Amino acid sequence: ATPTAVMVATGVGANNGVLIKGGDALERAQRVKYVIFDKTGTLTQGKATVTTAKSFTGMERGEFLKLVASAEHSGEFIEDSYRIFPYFLPSCLLNFLNSVTARASSEHPLAKAILSYARHFHFFDDSSADTGTENDAGNDVKTDFSALPGRGVQCLIDGKRILVGNRKLMAENGIHISTEVENFVVELEESAKTGILVAYNDILTGVLGIADPLKREASVVIEGLQKMGVTPVMVTGDNWRTARAVAKEVSIQDVRAEVMPAGKADVVRSFQKDGSIVAMVGDGINDSPALAAADVGMAIGAGTDIAIEAADYVLMRNNLEDVITAIDLSRKTFSRIR
Ligand code: ADP
Ligand code: MG
Repeated sequence: ATPTAVMVATGVGANNGVLIKGGDALERAQRVKYVIFDKTGTLTQGKATVTTAKSFTGMERGEFLKLVASAEHSGEFIEDSYRIFPYFLPSCLLNFLNSVTARASSEHPLAKAILSYARHFHFFDDSSADTGTENDAGNDVKTDFSALPGRGVQCLIDGKRILVGNRKLMAENGIHISTEVENFVVELEESAKTGILVAYNDILTGVLGIADPLKREASVVIEGLQKMGVTPVMVTGDNWRTARAVAKEVSIQDVRAEVMPAGKADVVRSFQKDGSIVAMVGDGINDSPALAAADVGMAIGAGTDIAIEAADYVLMRNNLEDVITAIDLSRKTFSRIR
């Protein structure tokens, strides 16, 4: 009866947008003791918006935003990839195709926020986006772009170095942060926002404040897990202050912040030490080692393809309630077999 029950459960899952890659993953989910949530794009909507953009060097606002947007632009942005797939496909399948093919989803949520803000105010225009090649329209030429997971991005614009990211990125590059700037960033972080620092030509030029609202169901799901005897944990590459403010809003007690991408997998392993079964829920490239290390890796369907590949479960609806659905499904399936 076992294979049949597993097949039925897999079908029930699929009908609810919970894709399960195999019977082992389905079996393990019933014994999950800890669920480790990534913050950005998992607990939060991943629809970050810029709330503040401040230059500290007197650089004109438009100039500042154009510079930051150019730096964040990966040159691979596909605005609406639905267009490339037949519209009559079920929306669940469209979302899936979208998430595994669109480069848009491989861009960091913070980069998306900065780009959409700059586009909205017409400080940045994709048609003039820098490609790294000579450009006769007189646009700034961008070269040597690299995304630095857990830290930010860096590139050269017109031969001058620009760094966009967190304190760690600035520290690694020897960028001095004045007390005025530090105080400004602390204030953002205490209100659950992420402060992004910008250094141009080795000088701290300005700061962006980014807010990413929690998913509506986040608190209910955390409470639900606790009632099921499962302990929720939050892990993030974001700074401690922002992390604590967000965790407090959803009543997560155990928080791990300023964790580098490889470190997320270590966090998973630390919870597995006493033999506990650990689930990891994440959406980003930087979550994939942790998703692979977890006993039960759950990728948000709207996340990056690499995360989806590394996971045992794909939550297509991008709804955290499906974490509970998945554990319930496993518990029901295996209590029936036993
Ligand atoms: P999370 O673990 O919450 O998903 P990440 O590990 O992706 O967060 O990022 C951690 C931190 O690194 C961010 O909070 C931000 O400070 C910085 N960062 C990462 N990518 C970028 C980017 N593209 N632009 C600016 N800052 C970034
Ligand atoms: Mg994330």
